[in-house]
Amino acid sequence: MDCIFCKIVNGELPSKKLFENDVVVAFHDINPAAPVHVVIIPKKHIASMNDVEDEDWPIIAEMNRAAQVVARELGIAESGYRTANNCGKNGGQEVFHLHNHLLGGAKLKPLASV
Ligand code: AMP
Ligand code: ZN
Repeated sequence: MDCIFCKIVNGELPSKKLFENDVVVAFHDINPAAPVHVVIIPKKHIASMNDVEDEDWPIIAEMNRAAQVVARELGIAESGYRTANNCGKNGGQEVFHLHNHLLGGAKLKPLASV
């Protein structure tokens, strides 16, 4: 499958990894939108939030746990941060392998409005 995040999981593409366990990987975003911008992905290929199946919900919990750990490790836990998931066309999703963004390191703008 031609999926850039699967290639990061299996080492075919490089990434600046911050956290990895059996379920998830977290790495620096290649085009940061904030001083801290981390991408957190499941190792399993799930295309988007629309494709999460009942058996996958523990993976979503693990993605959030990784965000908490990485935020602490990068020193932004106290100052605060945002996690975000873009789903589908209107959500602005560009990579169709499920991921959460972890953003922080500065006061973030309010969420986008239409
Ligand atoms: P989205 O628009 O929610 O699909 O976000 C995809 C994110 O993946 C964007 O913020 C990209 O900058 C980031 N991205 C794409 N390719 C890579 C890569 N090879 N390494 C790290 N981040 C990437
Ligand atoms: Zn994938």
